[in-house]
Amino acid sequence: MWTTNWRDTVWSQLDREFDLIVIGGGITGAGILREAARAGLKAVLFEQGDFASGTSSRSSKLVHGGLRYLRNAKIKLTYESVHEREHLLREGRGLVIPLPFLMANFRGDKIPAWVFGFGLSLYDILALKWNHAHYQPDGLRGLCPQLTSPDMIAGYRYFDAQTDDARLVLRVIFEATQDGARALNYARVEGLLKTGGRVSGVAVRDLAPGSVPFDYAQGEKTAEVRARAVVNATGAWADGLREQVRGPKRMRILRGSHLFFPSAKLPLARAVTFLHPKDGRPVFVFPWEGVTLVGTTDVDHGAAPSTDLRIGAAEAAYLMDAVTHAFPGLGLSLADVQSSLAGVRAVVDTGKANPSKESREFVLWNEAGLLTVSGGKLTTFRLMAQTALRAVRAILPEHPRLRWHEHVLDPLPPETTVCDLPPELRLHLLGRYGNEACNLAEVAREGELEAIGASPSLWAELRWAARAEGVVHLDDLLARRLRLAINLPGGGLAQMERIRAIVQPELGWDDARWEEEEKRYRALWQEYYSPP
Ligand SMILES: Cc1cc2nc3c(=O)[nH]c(=O)nc-3n(C[C@H](O)[C@H](O)[C@H](O)COP(=O)(O)OP(=O)(O)OC[C@H]3O[C@@H](n4cnc5c(N)ncnc54)[C@H](O)[C@@H]3O)c2cc1C
Repeated sequence: MWTTNWRDTVWSQLDREFDLIVIGGGITGAGILREAARAGLKAVLFEQGDFASGTSSRSSKLVHGGLRYLRNAKIKLTYESVHEREHLLREGRGLVIPLPFLMANFRGDKIPAWVFGFGLSLYDILALKWNHAHYQPDGLRGLCPQLTSPDMIAGYRYFDAQTDDARLVLRVIFEATQDGARALNYARVEGLLKTGGRVSGVAVRDLAPGSVPFDYAQGEKTAEVRARAVVNATGAWADGLREQVRGPKRMRILRGSHLFFPSAKLPLARAVTFLHPKDGRPVFVFPWEGVTLVGTTDVDHGAAPSTDLRIGAAEAAYLMDAVTHAFPGLGLSLADVQSSLAGVRAVVDTGKANPSKESREFVLWNEAGLLTVSGGKLTTFRLMAQTALRAVRAILPEHPRLRWHEHVLDPLPPETTVCDLPPELRLHLLGRYGNEACNLAEVAREGELEAIGASPSLWAELRWAARAEGVVHLDDLLARRLRLAINLPGGGLAQMERIRAIVQPELGWDDARWEEEEKRYRALWQEYYSPP
């Protein structure tokens, strides 16, 4: 689907009347496109940047029930989330992975330890899975020797799950396109078209660079695309499009940031969560794709949303305080940080003084025919998509009802029957590439089924992604198709020669284009992913 000339092909098909236009290529838009394709709708998705370049590649990568929502008495949200977690664990083998957690309780915590025991019991009851256990400090240290603080008084073991958020989005969009949907990255919706006061389409502009010399800022191609239903799945950007249907501003933009340490500096075999010593917010530290993730902050962004963001100095200090509180014996400092990542989320603004108290539940509004779906979680994307499709069906009643218990990810073949993949790589590749995993393995040249440095990604993934995954810029490849911007020191700049040898011919870029792209990637990495 995303091989040579795919963009031109999709652009040439935009003059037909669609059933549904989805604006936004994060997990919300991806899920809606997937369900629409399954329901047989003629659907197209437009994303202004790269797929998943917004919040959906900048999350904490947890597929979780959200224990902290229980604290805010959000039982329904937790219930839905644990069910979706279980669903995704079943379907997303190799991509959604069980993550054992330790919750460590410290002297002076703002919430007594027994409250967590109660919360975890409820968590397990909601998941219909009794999976937690209480530990004394020595028991916890047996599971995680790095927890050396003498102030640790007790703790619990429980389970959640983790994923690669950008890959999850890509897999869902890809499978939707396999089912007949269309999707374009670098295609910004600049305006809503109206018929009789109701939204009936969009004006879209191509932002992908053409041939050299190119201009990143201004694409040349534009189109007016019509559909009977239009969904605004632009997350933190939702108010911008709602303005065009006179929707009052309703979203509050919060920023959350993460630090990543090399595993050697902060070696963990499981996730650890605890209350931040300053404000009692839960924070977590866990091994993710060859690095150790520390997250997260939750602050008012105070500016227009942007895909590329930088962690603030105060946020970095807050996360370092958390790390040194839980792991005092490791002597970690900011100088040990390998990379950072910040993202914004939209929550409905109810004016609460503490941003963490604003609800994480999603909203669906219909304003002059523009359906807006925003908020929510990565974990609950299937539910959000189903709710959106129910609203779409009210506009397109002739379409069959959705079957609610359908798979959200295409079923994978049993691991043992797939092509000649080395067994240790099977799950990794199946989870990320679904039914394309064998094709990926087939294009691998000698030595390309090896990992790239400390990252779990393979050289062959670079070749495949460059060839077949809709890469427009080098950062699409290095920050989202693979996560080298985060999980290699210096964002993989030291490996650039070999990266170039593999991907430049696949992308068909001449030397001038390559040099421009490499310059852009270096600047982006320095500005947005480098250590604070
Ligand atoms: C720091 C942080 C940590 C989080 N951690 C977790 C977690 O661990 N687990 C979990 O379940 N959830 C988590 N979440 C929540 C989750 O990440 C979000 O709910 C989810 O990613 C939002 O997806 P989305 O598709 O709605 O938005 P986005 O991913 O932001 O997608 C919206 C897209 O719309 C595009 N767009 C905007 N305007 C236009 C336009 N005019 N034309 C075309 N495209 C446009 C944007 O470029 C963007 O890519 C976290 C959120 C944050 C901020």
